Amino acid sequence: MILFAEIPLANKIPGQTQVSVSVYVRERKGSARITMSFSTKDRHVVVSAPKRTTKTFLREFITKHQGWIEKQVAKHGAVAKEFAPGVIVPYRGRPYALAHEESNKVLVKPDGDLFFVRAALTRIDTHVRRWLLKQAMDDCTIASLQFAKALNVTVAKVSVKAMHTRWGSCSSAGNLNYNWRLILAPEEVLTYVCAHEVAHRVHMNHSKAFWDTVAKVCPNYEKARAWLKKNGSSLYAFG
Ligand SMILES: [Zn+2]
Repeated sequence: MILFAEIPLANKIPGQTQVSVSVYVRERKGSARITMSFSTKDRHVVVSAPKRTTKTFLREFITKHQGWIEKQVAKHGAVAKEFAPGVIVPYRGRPYALAHEESNKVLVKPDGDLFFVRAALTRIDTHVRRWLLKQAMDDCTIASLQFAKALNVTVAKVSVKAMHTRWGSCSSAGNLNYNWRLILAPEEVLTYVCAHEVAHRVHMNHSKAFWDTVAKVCPNYEKARAWLKKNGSSLYAFG
């Protein structure tokens, strides 16, 4: 894969400093098709093209799809922000300004309008992530167990991880995975995602019966779902 171009972004993303996105070209064997994808993990564009494709053709192809590229970058966030002094932390849907105090004794505590972090400067990001992950784990576990009880189903293991494209998942064995960024969203959004995944223990599909089950335990789920659709990508500002 080679770096082919650095494309300037026409639309600035709120809260981001990124002004361009890298486009890589990968040689594609045995096919005449050109395809383009966006790597949410590396936050760059990959164009797969047959070996003999000219640079001019590639450039035109990329220009033609500039709109799509902009949309992908906006949707998946640009270069990930780190938790640092002054950064706004959207904890449980409320904005807190990160305030730092240099110390060897670690303390993370949202307080008033401040997200107070006592730690070594270089370790802020690590400690804030660890703390948020723990809160997400606690909230997701409590909600999942509550919904499991209400729906009379079992759940196996509840995990919270860095998921790149999904908010949650439910395996046939009953293992529930949640995206840690849900802790940044309003509480009812996290609750809805838990209701959704646990409802998959009743229906392993998205049928009408499935949504009726979600509604039974989470009557206002449509509002939370709409919030995620509209604002979900903003939670990816933090990598
Ligand atoms: Zn689902």
